[in-house]
Amino acid sequence: MTDVLLFPNYIDGQWTGNGAHFENRNPADTERVVGRFVKGTAGDMQAAAAAAAGALPAWASLNAPARGAILFKAAELLESRLQSVAEDMTREEGKTLPEAKGEVRRSINIFRYFGGEGSRLDGLLVPSERDRVHMFALRKPLGVVGLITPWNFPSAIPAWKLAPALICGNTVVLKPASAAPLSAWRLVQALDEAGLPKGVVNFVAGPGGELGQALVEAPALKAVSFTGSCQIGNRLHAEASKRRLRIQLEMGGKNPTIVLADADFNAAVENTVNAAFFSTGQKCTATSRVIVEDAIYTRFLDAVVERTRKLKVGDGMAPGTDIGPCVDQAQMETVLRYIEIGRGEAGAPKTGGRRLIDGDLAKGYFVEPTVFADVTPGMTIAREEIFGPVLAVMRARDFEDAMGIANDIPFGLSASIQTTNLSRVFEFVYRMEAGLLTVNLPSAGVEYQLPFGGTKESSFGPKEQGPAALDFYSDYKTVYLKY
Ligand code: NAP
Repeated sequence: MTDVLLFPNYIDGQWTGNGAHFENRNPADTERVVGRFVKGTAGDMQAAAAAAAGALPAWASLNAPARGAILFKAAELLESRLQSVAEDMTREEGKTLPEAKGEVRRSINIFRYFGGEGSRLDGLLVPSERDRVHMFALRKPLGVVGLITPWNFPSAIPAWKLAPALICGNTVVLKPASAAPLSAWRLVQALDEAGLPKGVVNFVAGPGGELGQALVEAPALKAVSFTGSCQIGNRLHAEASKRRLRIQLEMGGKNPTIVLADADFNAAVENTVNAAFFSTGQKCTATSRVIVEDAIYTRFLDAVVERTRKLKVGDGMAPGTDIGPCVDQAQMETVLRYIEIGRGEAGAPKTGGRRLIDGDLAKGYFVEPTVFADVTPGMTIAREEIFGPVLAVMRARDFEDAMGIANDIPFGLSASIQTTNLSRVFEFVYRMEAGLLTVNLPSAGVEYQLPFGGTKESSFGPKEQGPAALDFYSDYKTVYLKY
């Protein structure tokens, strides 16, 4: 299947299509087609959920180390084709090839991490107050789970939902983002080749509105894990609540980096630029507001602008490229619209602010990395998620002022502080209203071994990744036993 241009859906262990397709084009060069994908329908979604229900009893009763062995095998297959899978990702999503390789490596590690959980899946065993009573709680799967994923981490996010769902004994229907379905398709291909029994994972690409609705209405569905925008997540939550489905939502952010005057200056500049612009600012954990202590504000702003100007924008496949394109035309237009709003609110950006159309760049959706200065907390560009290469630089009188600005938004996904003052670090750790914190590191760049997720309007439900993921994808069955 590796070199086919038409990518079918995967339902009940069959690669399947219904005739209608949609096309994906490379955002770095829209003349190049990445692939055609079968456009799933509500009927396909129902069939996928029914197949998952049919596969559930056998999969749930297979011992967990045997389930893990399939994840290990899939990881091995992905590793053997890392280069081509990463190239697919760069072509479909636009991120640079080194970033794409890093993401595929992460998916491999996630499969291995949760494969190992197959030998560790724990329950609870505690002493009873009664004599000769043995009491314990064991984990059991939820049943059929629906996974809905976004385009910005088109491999890692499906991987970090699939792997814990499968190791806990659930069966799955995966609906990938239409803008970048190929990376998720590669994961499913690896699982299929690794010997996953038919129906355990089902993959249906196509329009989110129609397929999402069909998925939450599928009678067999027990839970849904969603990553994407707040707008869609909140709508999904309303639908899922009607049926009391277990639900997990990871959504938008407006992540701050606080830079204090005592920070390692050069590292703070580097961390800020990395977090704001790498992956074209299309990371949910990207820094979109940098809040700088007054004493170093001008020097820091100048250094960030200078560093940003050096970033090379271009096709992610070309060696030396730092920043690829926006994922599609709609996302580019959103970014350009916010840049215009920013011009009205904060004046001309200190650097960037235009679509790049020189030479071959005109064939893609490239936007210059853009820095706005003197942004104040009430401005739209300080409050709304842009999800592109746009950084708002904000001034704070001192640490307390910076914390106030950082927390004064509805989102709470990630946040960072750059400082050498240990007490400020702990103040930040305890008082920052966000689920993911970094200190003297970029706000983006998390690993899979610890819980992942936000707070406030960014997230809802149990965390993903690390041991926390098992709590979403399993339930306890409690047993009291007199002997
Ligand atoms: P999106 O537009 O919300 O789409 C996410 C997924 O939902 C896609 O698969 C989409 O399908 C599907 N969908 C669309 N309408 C639906 C509906 N009515 N019911 C059910 N599903 C529906 O988000 P996106 O543009 O792909 O991703 C960007 C957003 O994701 C940003 O806000 C970013 O912050 C967030 N994000 C958050 C995290 C996190 O962990 N917090 C991580 C990554 C990204 P189609 O593609 O077919 O429309």
